[in-house]
Amino acid sequence: MATHIPARRNATAVRVGNVVIGGTEPIVVQSMTNTDTADLEATLAQVEALFAAGSEMVRITVNSAEAAAAVAPLRQRLNDKGIHGPLVGDFHFNGHRLLSQFPDCAAALDKYRINPGNVGKGAKRDEQFATMIEAACEYQKPVRIGVNWGSLDQQLLARMMDENAARAQPLDADEVMREALVVSALESAQQAEALGLARDRIVLSCKVSDVQDLIVVYRRLAQRCDYPLHLGLTEAGMGSKGIVASTAAMAVLLQEGIGDTIRVSLTPDPGGDRTREVTVAQEILQTMGLRSFAPLVIACPGCGRTSSTYFQELAGDIQAYLRRQMKQWREVYPGVEQMRVAVMGCVVNGPGESRHADIGISLPGSGERPVAPVFIDGEKAVTLKGEHIAQEFQALVEQYVQRRFGANAKQADEAAREAPVRG
Ligand code: SF4
Repeated sequence: MATHIPARRNATAVRVGNVVIGGTEPIVVQSMTNTDTADLEATLAQVEALFAAGSEMVRITVNSAEAAAAVAPLRQRLNDKGIHGPLVGDFHFNGHRLLSQFPDCAAALDKYRINPGNVGKGAKRDEQFATMIEAACEYQKPVRIGVNWGSLDQQLLARMMDENAARAQPLDADEVMREALVVSALESAQQAEALGLARDRIVLSCKVSDVQDLIVVYRRLAQRCDYPLHLGLTEAGMGSKGIVASTAAMAVLLQEGIGDTIRVSLTPDPGGDRTREVTVAQEILQTMGLRSFAPLVIACPGCGRTSSTYFQELAGDIQAYLRRQMKQWREVYPGVEQMRVAVMGCVVNGPGESRHADIGISLPGSGERPVAPVFIDGEKAVTLKGEHIAQEFQALVEQYVQRRFGANAKQADEAAREAPVRG
């Protein structure tokens, strides 16, 4: 079945280091560290891990003089390792001072995230915001105007609440809050442009922690501007709740063509793996057919017909193996990230699902003959038996990848295309 891909909203393209957000470019996956940026070694290790996991942009906190001082050395260390992905600096409260006092930091970052609610109060707010935008202009950096409902500009909210109270039919407070998020982002973007920041240097976000609110707010943003939008549910939470909430919110918007870059804000377990947020973001995009990052494993959930854990272990092993291999395969086997591998528990749906995958195996369920037919490109290719089904299937996957995506496959393809058509 051909996948229907929703049309993307037509957003301005914004270059961030070696990545472009918006325009016709693929939706960018980004992530954020949770180390103290002043701890250079810890931050370097985490940034490296996030890029290695497939993050295309990494944001770091720049909250103190020590953190700002660490940014240029961090960039240098990454460059020395051949890692050139963009680094984004997250600024709150003192960003104006840090960007002025640490020119190396301002120059080393590829983008500044500015939260209009955390820039300052009264006249100072405009002055400090202007200082940050001037730094962006001077160093030719793009900016994300990142509004967050937890730190919404209180003066703006108060103004809008007053205006609302004066209406004949006032809106409810939540509605004013949603509108204030959108207005805060749009007014700040206009202010940045008035200060000289080019239109193609601005990305917007308006993050909230409620799924329905996020959908409403981003639909409005998408209608009212053509800046590219950074999508994400803030404070999504831990474990499956965080994944489900982020997916529920983002999938609706992505399906409507809204969102040019995404971040999944998961709270890791203490000492947990920060790269999980990258994998989840990739899986959202890939399962929606919007991008491909690594071969997909299609596995049935198992049921009473699979009483052993053998099938779950095989599905898990194959998935881990495919992700591991991607580091080398990406270079050598272009297109392999679109491969679909089925690992099915029994004959009920096994052969059907396996036939639809590029390569698939249907394992023996309880009481079935201990054989596992393997399907390649829709045809039954071989039947595996005995103790080493897992290893043999893995070897078949490897052979399939070489044959289908290797250099010889490309040559054979080109030869077929160039061959004269005989009449
Ligand atoms: S394919 Fe077989 S084992 Fe898997 S869920 Fe369906 S009936 Fe159960």
